[in-house]
Amino acid sequence: MSDLDAAPRLAECGGRAGVAAEPVRELLQGRSVPLGESTEVRRLLPTLGRRMVGAWCFVDHYGPDDIVDRPGMQVPPHPHIGLQTVSWLLGGEVLHRDSLGSLQTLTPGTLGVMTAGHGIAHSEESPAAHSPLLHGAQLWVALPDGARATAPAWEFHGDLPVLEDGGTRTTVFMGEMAGARSAGTTFSPLVGADVTLAAGGGTRLPLEPDFEYAALTTLGAVNVDGVDLAPGSLLYLGCGRSELQVSAASPGHLLLLGGEPFDEQIVMWWNFVARSGEEIGAARADWTNADARFGEVHGYAGDRLPAPPFPSTRLKPRGRVR
Ligand code: MN
Repeated sequence: MSDLDAAPRLAECGGRAGVAAEPVRELLQGRSVPLGESTEVRRLLPTLGRRMVGAWCFVDHYGPDDIVDRPGMQVPPHPHIGLQTVSWLLGGEVLHRDSLGSLQTLTPGTLGVMTAGHGIAHSEESPAAHSPLLHGAQLWVALPDGARATAPAWEFHGDLPVLEDGGTRTTVFMGEMAGARSAGTTFSPLVGADVTLAAGGGTRLPLEPDFEYAALTTLGAVNVDGVDLAPGSLLYLGCGRSELQVSAASPGHLLLLGGEPFDEQIVMWWNFVARSGEEIGAARADWTNADARFGEVHGYAGDRLPAPPFPSTRLKPRGRVR
């Protein structure tokens, strides 16, 4: 997934200033963002008022979209640095290609993790023959300083741990929960879990008090810690919880994201996570000049995505709240 904003702004994120040390229930509305010509996504992070939850720094939720007789997702080759992309499908399939030569079809319940490190390029598309519905989430994880120059890597995991309780089924797709650990590589303490609730289902999800968390409903109406959460909104939960009550009167589905608050200040622009505007500018130049840093994505029927113009405004000073 790519940020296709024609004029993205530099955004500074991270640090402890915005982290709620105590449990809170802060409802954040996503905003609709066009993704190419055929897809629209709900961007839940970064959003007005909150930019990160742990190391999770980007959350797009898309669908369920009827893509019968439509191309579906078509995201041309584009670069990333300094982050991991976490692809999680709830319906349909997405074909991933990258500059390492990976070619992988993702389906619901399977995990695609791409560690960009120093630099990688990839494309994402609905296969020519695809299911009628496309539904999923594209998530980014900021890499800590010690890992962000790492060599790029692609991982696919089809066998993920599942916890079942009280009519709920929780797949741990990143990190660990209640001893269930995903095989997806992480570089900071975090968790990503997919919770499916049957009608009348409910459970208390075990949490780490040192983590901050947020929940987003993807289908149905799920009650999270007393708040009825409709699809397309994110409930920020803060830190200091050892469990989280979730329930649903009718079938529902949510994603729970959490992690140790990310101490480092990061700079995000377009598809890059770095520590300064200069680093971002260098990555943009490398992509524009087709530098070997990002390699080449083979097999995508279309041109690579050009980088948007670099903003002329200087980076906002630290700590300023948008
Ligand atoms: Mn991407």
